Formats: sequence, structure tokens, C-alpha cells
Amino acid sequence: MKLLEERIKKDGKALGKTVLKVDSFINHQVDSEFMDALGKDFAEHFKEYGITKVFTIESSGIAPALMTAKYLDVPMVILKKQTSKILNGKVYQTRVTSFTKGTSYELTLYQDYIDQNDKVLLIDDFLANGEAAMGASRLIKESGADLTGIGILIEKSFQKGRKRLEDAGYYVYSQARVGRLDKDLIEFLPEDAP
Ligand code: 5GP
Repeated sequence: MKLLEERIKKDGKALGKTVLKVDSFINHQVDSEFMDALGKDFAEHFKEYGITKVFTIESSGIAPALMTAKYLDVPMVILKKQTSKILNGKVYQTRVTSFTKGTSYELTLYQDYIDQNDKVLLIDDFLANGEAAMGASRLIKESGADLTGIGILIEKSFQKGRKRLEDAGYYVYSQARVGRLDKDLIEFLPEDAP
């Protein structure tokens, strides 16, 4: 998606070879008009998939996920990052390791907000090693619902996330695919690159 690539070129900052900072428009300060455009693009892309809910993982995915849900006219559900296990039977929980922080959390979903007939679109800001998305997929699978698609703003294609998700049978659409990062260098891959 050209709009996102242009914005990353203008306002993104590569912190070495693995981490891209997009704090000024995605995950610290948020550009609402821009999020609206990204949400519209996801909704357009997934409009024929029969999506019944948009899921995201707190907190950076919330803004684009909300806009996507608005355009698809379905609810948005935020998967929570809890520090400890909740010991009642009303939740699905799974342990996830954070790429950026190197810490772990219990990804948590109340059973009230999903049922086995749901077709879920998962939206997240970054795809790195796929830990967060694989965690979300475990919760959705446990509920009996279908993870119909995964929409990512920025995929770092040099990390293994996309391959892991595709090998597990999931469909991934990324609005920007970063092929290489280095200090002051951000290179993109075309949408259909292998
Ligand atoms: P994964 O779970 O795919 O290994 O990592 C994805 C999660 O880690 C995203 O939800 C995002 O919060 C964070 N993340 C991964 N790589 C980056 C990055 O380069 N920049 C930022 N800002 N967050 C990242």
C-alpha cells in the first residue's frame, strides 16, 4: 500500500537492523485520518470474506482495528495482555513472548466475545516473528471460531512471522512489507513478493 510506504519513508525511523520506530503516527502519537485510510483499505481487502469480528492485541493495533471494524460494520474485540493467569473458566488464555520487550504475558479473551460461528479478522501493527498472531490464533482455535484473515500494517519480511502463519494455514495481507532495515535505511518489498 503506497500510502503507508510513503509515510514510513517520511516519518519512520530504523533503529538498526531489526526495529522500526513509527511512534509519531502509529503507536504513540496516532494520526486518526491516516488510521481511517488504513482501516478502509483493510475493509476493502477483506469485504468478501464474511468477517463477523475484528480482533486486535492491545494496544498498538487498536486504532487501525477500530477503523477496520467501522468500515466492515462489525464489532472490534481487544485481546488483553494480562500479567498472570485468570483462574476462572470464563476466559481463553495463552502465553506469548513479546518481540520488542523480551517479556511474556498471558493473552486473554473472555469467552463472551467469541463463538464458534465467528469469522475473525486479526489486525496488528507489526508482524515480526509471529508470536502475537500465533497466540491469537490459539485462542480463536480453542473457541471453535475461524481465523479467516490476518491484516498487518507493517510486516518485517526478513523475520519469520509470515512464513510461520502461512505454514499454519493462515491468510496474511500486509499493507507494507519491509525487506531490509538498517540505520537510516528502509527497503520495501512488493505486495506479491515471495
Ligand atoms: P511478533 O509477535 O510478530 O514477534 O511481534 C509483533 C509485535 O511486536 C507487534 O505487536 C509489535 O507490538 C511488536 N513489534 C515487533 N517488531 C516491531 C518493530 O520493529 N517496531 C515496533 N514499534 N514494534 C514491533
